[in-house]
Amino acid sequence: MNIVEKAKEEVVSIARIIYREGLVFETWGNISARPTENEVVITPSGIPYEKLTFVDIVTVNLAGQAVKGKWKPSTELPLHLAIYEQRKDVRAIVHTHSSCALAFAASRQDVPVVLEEQAQIVGGPVKVADYALPGSTELAENALKILGNEENAVLLANHGLVGIGKDLTTALQICRIIERSARIILWSKLLGSPYILSPEDVTALRNNFLFAYGQNNPAANS
Ligand SMILES: [Zn+2]
Repeated sequence: MNIVEKAKEEVVSIARIIYREGLVFETWGNISARPTENEVVITPSGIPYEKLTFVDIVTVNLAGQAVKGKWKPSTELPLHLAIYEQRKDVRAIVHTHSSCALAFAASRQDVPVVLEEQAQIVGGPVKVADYALPGSTELAENALKILGNEENAVLLANHGLVGIGKDLTTALQICRIIERSARIILWSKLLGSPYILSPEDVTALRNNFLFAYGQNNPAANS
């Protein structure tokens, strides 16, 4: 199995996870990966998640032309390609329509950092991009204004969440953590108001994760 085929298998497995966990609704949401410099594999448009298999994933080049696949690619292809174009560090994109993140997107409020894992993995609050119609180049432009060169996630106003990363596992983890943060914030509001972590604590948590956390981190045992 070559690198592109392997990426397609990973896209299918992440698609099954986001569907099973309720991070997407019906056929909305989409996933892509960039296994080579000029190839992106992406979920097809409008195919139910439970039926999705390896052969349904579409391969396109960076210009957006379908290279291989029997279906049309996701209608959010322009968003995915624009992100890969701007962010050379990004190799995977997961776009969900999860309920609690959407509550923030619908009220056009950023998701502040109240959980340590958001500080560690996402690295800060998640901001909302200006509204634009789905599938439009304007949507991609608005999302990129927020993502810039460093952000790992963006909320699309009245629409959904985009998590990006060096691989699909990371992009999925970002979407899961933001959905969980959004849910905890909503619950906390029932009890009063959640405490938002200070920028200093967020930076300390992020640095600790990047430079000291985990078994394989060279700094972990120093
Ligand atoms: Zn969407």
